[in-house]
Amino acid sequence: MQTVIKLSPDQLAKLVTHYQPWQSGSSLPPGALLRAQYQGVTITAYKSGKVLFQGSGSQQVAQPWHPVGVDQPAAGTHKKSTTSNSLPAGFASWSVLGSDEVGAGAYFGPLTTAAVFVAHQDLDWVRQLDIMDSKVLSDQQIQKIGPQIIARLPHHVVNLMPAKYNQLQKQYNVVALKALSHNFALKQVLAKVNPAEVQGILIDQFAAPTTFNRYLKQAGQAGISQPKEYFTTKGERHHLSVAAASILARLVELDSMKKLSEAAGITLPIGAGKHVDEVAAQLIRRQVPLKDFAKLHFANTQKAEKLAQRQ
Ligand code: MG
Repeated sequence: MQTVIKLSPDQLAKLVTHYQPWQSGSSLPPGALLRAQYQGVTITAYKSGKVLFQGSGSQQVAQPWHPVGVDQPAAGTHKKSTTSNSLPAGFASWSVLGSDEVGAGAYFGPLTTAAVFVAHQDLDWVRQLDIMDSKVLSDQQIQKIGPQIIARLPHHVVNLMPAKYNQLQKQYNVVALKALSHNFALKQVLAKVNPAEVQGILIDQFAAPTTFNRYLKQAGQAGISQPKEYFTTKGERHHLSVAAASILARLVELDSMKKLSEAAGITLPIGAGKHVDEVAAQLIRRQVPLKDFAKLHFANTQKAEKLAQRQ
């Protein structure tokens, strides 16, 4: 899977600086400025402004670098991003409760969903954190900014660790689990603030709103009728509350990965690639129960079992 984008010289310089810490290898292809490994994705930036993202998750890693307002789906996919046409004018400066989740595509670790309320008067404070490109911040930046968000803004995190996730997953598919987590986190924050102050809710979109509401209904959960819920992909670019929620979810995910790695006695890798199968196979050989560390329904489980039997 690969995603190609074209950047202006300014944006290209920004990208190259950003991924410098993840630079890999010594030899570069002709015309290239940088090659980096980031979250299992190989990033190659060329002097021409072309940037190639290769590997599963390439679209997600490339996403924040797309010029704002321009959707460029990866070659070979027909998936259309939903644009923010439905958001009212001036939405970015409203007092908004936003939510986002991480971990759905990673074999090891939790599914973590966060909701954060950013009132109009807090927007300047959040803006100076410089988190609009929340998806590309380094772990170190997340660990620095996340606690500031916790200390200042009303928030709630639903952290489904693997043991719980696997239990729930027997009954609910991943999209349903996301819908239930978002809905619960948002309600918890609404209970902490004056609801009249919340002008709108913005959910970083992972499903059509009708699907979202159907899953809530099927699970017997009431949705939120007031204030109005908006859904958009790239939500972090449309309101800073979603960017803050994304940071908070990543902070809790990082912390969970650290704890799980300590318990497993090995550093658990992110993503769902081959390197993940190897580590899972090691755990099986050591008779460490995978259900406490990984999302069992991923195909990685069978691959790891095969690998473990080979030796
Ligand atoms: Mg999201």
